[in-house]
Amino acid sequence: MSPKVHAAQGALSAAILYPFIGNDALLFGLTVFFIDLDHLIPFVRDCRSLDPKRFFAYHRAVHDYDDYLALSWFHTAEFMLLLWALGFWRHEFRVMLAACLFHILFDVIKALHMGKPFLRAYSFVEYALRREGKRTRHTA
Ligand SMILES: [Zn+2]
Repeated sequence: MSPKVHAAQGALSAAILYPFIGNDALLFGLTVFFIDLDHLIPFVRDCRSLDPKRFFAYHRAVHDYDDYLALSWFHTAEFMLLLWALGFWRHEFRVMLAACLFHILFDVIKALHMGKPFLRAYSFVEYALRREGKRTRHTA
């Protein structure tokens, strides 16, 4: 999903939630947007670049490979477990967890719509098990 769509989702969800959860709504909205910063990890690993144009081309190209398996660190079950555990210390991590799940719900709907529900691994364990024989890097 594009950054513009996630920015709109973050702004709209924060506006809707604000009357109910106050300033935590801002954290929720920001998290909905910034969770996708993890997309920088494979791009920098593969392309050794921070060029925004190349970044978007890199991620568009992923959809052209039938055998590609993506891993987005902040979209994994392990990251969700970390946020959940940190939530015992500060409730803000539970707000971030809810925002991540909200964001991922839309990512999954888009993947289903594209007919590529298994393009991304949603766990480091799943990634380790499925990566054999898959393309996991490219430099488009
Ligand atoms: Zn995402």
